[in-house]
Amino acid sequence: MNTIYSWHQETWRILRQDNASLGHALLLKGRQGVGKLVFARQLAKSLLCDHPSVGGEACRNCQGCGWFEQGGHPDFRLILPEAMAEKKGASAALANEENTGVETGAEMESPGTGEPGSPKSKRKPSKQIRITQIRDITEFINMSSHQNGHKVVLIYPAETMNPEAANALLKNLEEPPPRTLFILVTHRAQYLLPTIRSRCCQIAMPAPDPATATAWLKEQGVRDPATCLASTGYAPLAALEFNDVIYLERHQAFVSQISVPGKFNPCVLAEEMQKSDLPTLVIWLQKWCYDLMSFRTTGKIRYHLDMLAPIESLASRINPRALATFLRVLNETLRLAHHPLNVRLFLEEMLFSYVMSVAPQEQPR
Ligand SMILES: [Zn+2]
Repeated sequence: MNTIYSWHQETWRILRQDNASLGHALLLKGRQGVGKLVFARQLAKSLLCDHPSVGGEACRNCQGCGWFEQGGHPDFRLILPEAMAEKKGASAALANEENTGVETGAEMESPGTGEPGSPKSKRKPSKQIRITQIRDITEFINMSSHQNGHKVVLIYPAETMNPEAANALLKNLEEPPPRTLFILVTHRAQYLLPTIRSRCCQIAMPAPDPATATAWLKEQGVRDPATCLASTGYAPLAALEFNDVIYLERHQAFVSQISVPGKFNPCVLAEEMQKSDLPTLVIWLQKWCYDLMSFRTTGKIRYHLDMLAPIESLASRINPRALATFLRVLNETLRLAHHPLNVRLFLEEMLFSYVMSVAPQEQPR
């Protein structure tokens, strides 16, 4: 199936009017979880297709489409950070166009993607795109194409290129090889070198309005689309991931415990949750605290639409300054969550700090 989401149809129409208008480098930017990677892959596939439709969609029948769908088109390169390729089962999983899981809720809003990896560590796969990967591209674009003359390099997420890699890419963008299209996909365009941004045609990828997103999620069989959508910051693909039963149950267990900070035991919860993905837990807590703060200051909830009563009750008793400080601390906590020394201790400390920061204000005697 050629998936072009309804909220991306107009962008598709504009870009696919003719190949020449694509230029040599595109920068697709926008919020995580709206389907930018799916779009970028469709675009690559259609360029490598021998018989695209009038609307520019890939035919799905030619040899090029076959290669692409099997994840092995010789004129296509997908560049991901090593850690992401490993986590997602590399190109095999990505080759499946129904697999939208790359843009997960777990990674949403995580500033961690811009952080330095651990170049010296041989055991941990890098979270950055490294210069060796970009050097491989240089070799690739200098070879002649196998199929219809086009070559496509897709870089995702582009902001994870480390400075050396970014500079190496810049050289390619400065002297663009003929009939080669670079597609850079980014959730945080501001982290890219200005010189890279200025050499790309920048496309703001739209997110659907909540009604469209809810209707789409319903079509995908999501039971409670509104809640899933809100829980993931209105990113439909992330909401689809969120609908996973195990994920939902775990999230519910976590939130229901932290919603009564006077009753739960941080040590017990840390033990229960220590097998979960740590950055995900930090993001859950961040969203929860965000809602407490938001309700306290504006009376509005963004993420936990189904938790109005406990949020109302807790928000009325907190000290907003203490919670604001904790929210800032959580940003740093999220960065550290990618490399914890001891998961359980890390969780205990985070949960104890949370309990302290939402403790009712002490009454002066
Ligand atoms: Zn085709």
